[in-house]
Amino acid sequence: MSTTTNTTSLASLPLAAATIPDPKIAMGWLHTAKFLTTAPELKHLPRIEVPEIAFVGRSNAGKSTCINTLTQQHRLAFASKTPGRTQSINLFSLGKQGVTDAVLADLPGYGYAAVPKEAKYRWQQVMGNYLQTRDNLQAIVLLCDPRLGLTELDEVLLDVIRPRVEDGLKFLVLLTKSDKLNKTDAAKALQIVKLQAAGGDVKLFSSLKRQGVEAVAQHLWDWAHPKEKPVKAPRVAPDAEAVQSPPESTPGDLDSAATGPSAN
Ligand code: GDP
Repeated sequence: MSTTTNTTSLASLPLAAATIPDPKIAMGWLHTAKFLTTAPELKHLPRIEVPEIAFVGRSNAGKSTCINTLTQQHRLAFASKTPGRTQSINLFSLGKQGVTDAVLADLPGYGYAAVPKEAKYRWQQVMGNYLQTRDNLQAIVLLCDPRLGLTELDEVLLDVIRPRVEDGLKFLVLLTKSDKLNKTDAAKALQIVKLQAAGGDVKLFSSLKRQGVEAVAQHLWDWAHPKEKPVKAPRVAPDAEAVQSPPESTPGDLDSAATGPSAN
C-alpha cells in the first residue's frame, strides 16, 4: 500500500482549517447558555443590544428538547410532556467569560385546537408584535413536526416575518423528530416545506439521533457573529427584569394566548 497518497490533500489543510467552521466552537459557546429572564407579557422584555435568536413553533414540535440538545443542558428549556406549560417568553444569555454576545428567546408554543378564536387572535398579536418590532432580533428558528407539516398558524407566522426576512432577518425551519421518518418521507417533507418557506433554509433535525445538531449550532454561531459586521460584546444588565420596557412593547398576555389540552 502506498504511503504517499495523502500528501497533496494534507498540504492544503492549514489553508482550509482557517476557513472551515469548527462546530466544536459553536457547541462550546451554546453550552454557556444561562437563564436570563422570563417575560409573561411582551412589555416586560428587557431591551438587549446583542443579537437575539428566537425559537418558535407549535406546541409539542420539539422546541424545548431542541434547545436543551443544542445547549447540552438537560433542563434549560422546560421540556414538558404537557403541551402548553411554557407560556412565557424565556431568554437565555450566551457568551464566554461572562460576556453576553447573544441571546436565545424561547417563545411560547402555539396551536391548540381548544383555544378560542379570540385567544388565537391575541396570540397572533403578541407574537406579531415581538417578531415585527424586536430591535435586536437577528434570526428565527421555526420548529415543525414534519409529520404535521407547516400548519395554518405557522403560515401566519411566515407572513408576519416575511418583510423582515426580505430586510435580512435570518430564518431557518427545523423539521424535528426526523428519526421518526424514513429516508423517502424525510426527503419529501424537506421538499414540501422548502417550497412553503420561500427564502428560508430548511433542515432535518433530531435530538434523539443528533441529526443536524452541529450544523444548526454553526448557524446560530454564524448569525450571532456575522463576519461582515463584528458583533460588539456589551454586557447585558445583570438585573434584566428591572430594565424598563422598550418603547416598542405592546400589552399582551401570553398566558391567555395558548391554553388547551391538545396539540392539534
Ligand atoms: P415543545 O412543546 O415544542 O417544547 O416540545 P418538547 O421538546 O416538549 O417535545 C415534545 C415531545 O416530542 C416530547 O415527548 C419529546 O420527547 C419528543 N421529542 C422531542 N424531540 C424529539 C426527537 O428528536 N425525536 C423524537 N423521537 N422525539 C422527540
